[in-house]
Amino acid sequence: MPPSLPLNTVRLDHIDLAPSRPLVIVDVDEVLGLFMAGFGAYLETKGLEFRIEKFALFQNIYRPGETEHLDLEEGRQHFESFFRYAAGDMPLAEGGPGALKMLSDHASIVILTNAPGQARLGRARWLARHGMDYPLILSSGPKGPLTARLAAQVSAPVAFVDDMISNLDSVAEHAPHVARFQSVADTRLRHLAPSRPEVHTRIDDWESLGAAIKSAIT
Ligand SMILES: [Mg+2]
Repeated sequence: MPPSLPLNTVRLDHIDLAPSRPLVIVDVDEVLGLFMAGFGAYLETKGLEFRIEKFALFQNIYRPGETEHLDLEEGRQHFESFFRYAAGDMPLAEGGPGALKMLSDHASIVILTNAPGQARLGRARWLARHGMDYPLILSSGPKGPLTARLAAQVSAPVAFVDDMISNLDSVAEHAPHVARFQSVADTRLRHLAPSRPEVHTRIDDWESLGAAIKSAIT
């Protein structure tokens, strides 16, 4: 992922958490939103194909008919442009807003997304438009250290939801008391996503996931 801010400089002073309230930290791409679907649709407008062949970003971008993926740097530029211009059209993962609304009766919700800096406005608008106007943190890199900083602000249970095992492993390392859930929203990606369900609970649909998170934090 392109850097936005180094992890240790991400400011949390706009995040005002009630110390005695449980906390749920939720990812956006492939958890609340169908990133691959949105990015794929954007790439089509650029005459490119997004083939869902592996759980990866830039290695899946092709010119039609070609067998070698697009140059990685070129892919990265499309990724940055997508976040600047088109991420507001990303389809929603079914059930996410309702589950967060239910959980918000019991917990503080924080959205923690790895996205480039130019994504902030569009991402905040996308979340608000879908009824998920919760505090938003843009970051980059493994999410464990930042999750540990957030979790340290509350004395109640904390849950963390992400699609990527690298982030779940990082949380297990830096904040082992946080309940971890892996969720992959896009049905085409589910069988491709590296997973260790014995270590990080894996639940892909928001109805079951919301109930499991509630059990973990209340
Ligand atoms: Mg994600």
